[in-house]
Amino acid sequence: MAFTQAPLPYDPGALEPYGMSAKTLEFHYGKHHAAYVNNLNNLVKDTALADKPLPEVVVASYEDYKAGKPGVFNNAGQAWNHDFYWSSLKPGSTTPSGDLATKIEKDFGSFDKLKEEFKTAATTQFGSGWAWLVLDNGILKVTKTLNAENPLVYGQVPLLTLDVWEHAYYLDFQNKRPDFIQNFLGQLANWDFAASNLAAA
Ligand code: MN
Repeated sequence: MAFTQAPLPYDPGALEPYGMSAKTLEFHYGKHHAAYVNNLNNLVKDTALADKPLPEVVVASYEDYKAGKPGVFNNAGQAWNHDFYWSSLKPGSTTPSGDLATKIEKDFGSFDKLKEEFKTAATTQFGSGWAWLVLDNGILKVTKTLNAENPLVYGQVPLLTLDVWEHAYYLDFQNKRPDFIQNFLGQLANWDFAASNLAAA
């Protein structure tokens, strides 16, 4: 069975009042993400990986990636990362509550400190990559990864992500990545999704 993109969890225009245009969704979801999934399907066709769940394909192809054969991992990683990314966004961010809020206070000191760390990670990821909130051995951490890499290959539980590839922000913010990050933290970050991932961990 072929891999498919998860459906967008909102209308493509729903994020527009919150700084992410329908045009960005049209290209990012409709072209970039779609291409990763299409490439992956072509690469794993008639192999044992074709019938495995996507997270397993990501982890299974990581050794080849490190050994200089990055094709499957890059496309599997990007296919999975983008599904996770669309759920990391919602029209109009709220603040963390419940167990997530308690855990943030405990591990970061405050929600503001978490946001500050996230902003730094997302800003300083050189070139293409991702910023993450993860659960690592029971502790909340902010991390950044290069290209298609993600927390699954480090044995961490991903809770929330921001795509900082240039294609994620160029149409709306041109080269101003820090403004895109600020907008994510202010208007788009889906803390309910992070909370549900924490509850399931
Ligand atoms: Mn992307």
